Amino acid sequence: MQQKILVVEDEAGIAENISYALQTEGYAVQWCATVGEAREVIATDTIALMVLDVGLPDGNGFEFCRELRRSSQLPVIFLTARTTEIDRVVGLEIGADDYVVKPFSPRELCARVRAVLRRTAASPSLPDTPTAAFAIDNERMLITYGNTPLELSRYEYRLLDVLVRRPGQVFSRDHLMEQAWEEPEASLDRTVDTHIKTLRAKLRDVTPDYDPIKTHRGIGYSLRETR
Ligand code: CA
Repeated sequence: MQQKILVVEDEAGIAENISYALQTEGYAVQWCATVGEAREVIATDTIALMVLDVGLPDGNGFEFCRELRRSSQLPVIFLTARTTEIDRVVGLEIGADDYVVKPFSPRELCARVRAVLRRTAASPSLPDTPTAAFAIDNERMLITYGNTPLELSRYEYRLLDVLVRRPGQVFSRDHLMEQAWEEPEASLDRTVDTHIKTLRAKLRDVTPDYDPIKTHRGIGYSLRETR
């Protein structure tokens, strides 16, 4: 199936050049001139990658990318007219996958698009339902997250096992302790917190921008049902 590239660029001439080059490479292209249109396309269409201009009539590409990163891993390549190092760093710090500086050749952009798509296809991509990202193998006491096997301690394994089996359910610390510890009376309450903390660090190694465990202040923890 053809992968669709979303081009968000308000200068028609540039957008046409890019679109032509990408189509020649075999990609389908959707062009938007504003952040508003792009937001709509991303919400309704299946997009493989977004080429995003920084200066747009109704907003700033960096801000749009930051907003997007709260809910999506869609690969983003920035088109920036500013050549200062700071802009480049900022562009990548906010979760962009790459950038090209204007003026650029469409051929160069196509090469970047191909490289980013190859890279993102190789890394674990998570489904929208985080629970589907987990696979539990009870016999081997192994949990994989986004296709990455987690190296968990016994209690981390048991805690995550309890959370993953009941997504959305809020477990109190007492309840988690009862489920995961052999002698719950002997342990202190904060043991649960300590293990959740180390567990989170291991999950963060797989998905740096996303924490599937939700803290319920004063109550306990749950596994998020949606991203
Ligand atoms: Ca522009």
